[in-house]
Amino acid sequence: MGPPGVGKGTQSVRLVNFLNVPHLSTGDMLRQACQEGSDLGLLAEQYMAQGKLVPDPIILQLVGKRLDQGDCQEGCLLDGFPRTLGQAQALDELLQRRGTPLTAALELKADSEELVKRLAGRGRDDDRPEVVRERLRQYARQTAPLSDYYARQGRLFEIDGGGPPEEVFGRIKAVISQIKKKAMSV
Ligand code: AMP
Repeated sequence: MGPPGVGKGTQSVRLVNFLNVPHLSTGDMLRQACQEGSDLGLLAEQYMAQGKLVPDPIILQLVGKRLDQGDCQEGCLLDGFPRTLGQAQALDELLQRRGTPLTAALELKADSEELVKRLAGRGRDDDRPEVVRERLRQYARQTAPLSDYYARQGRLFEIDGGGPPEEVFGRIKAVISQIKKKAMSV
């Protein structure tokens, strides 16, 4: 997890190559549904264009279906999901039923000036200043509280997302080896 522009997408691509697991980005899945013009895509587009979060039931349906596919059975990286407490609780229930609990929640952090600078250089449809402001607001209101949720479970790992991508990825790899050591000592 991490606010818009912090580098979740960029770092996720590196991390899935490193861990050799599938990359499940709800943002990518939604953008694909929009392009295909499916009912779900058309509905989601209205929220995305305004920088609002797509309602939980739609997201949960999308993620639930994807997790059932064969390539996710050995684990996967969730990128941009969960984004609300409701999604986090539903994910925990779903993973508990499958007997495959969440290993860790990684949170990338950066100061807001760096975020705005990075978003300005990206040029995605929903990167217009007024939409970005709303996305940052939604993050603060709906997603930031998830840090506490995962911290209470002892599964939160905070990572400094500032500086060049290679440096950030170095910090992520250090955290991953910490998580692996912890898992082996249990
Ligand atoms: P992202 O590519 O992760 O920045 O997501 C782009 C947009 O897709 C967000 O601004 C939301 O409108 C929507 N979206 C992506 N993931 C979720 C999610 N887990 N819950 C609700 N909306 C989402």
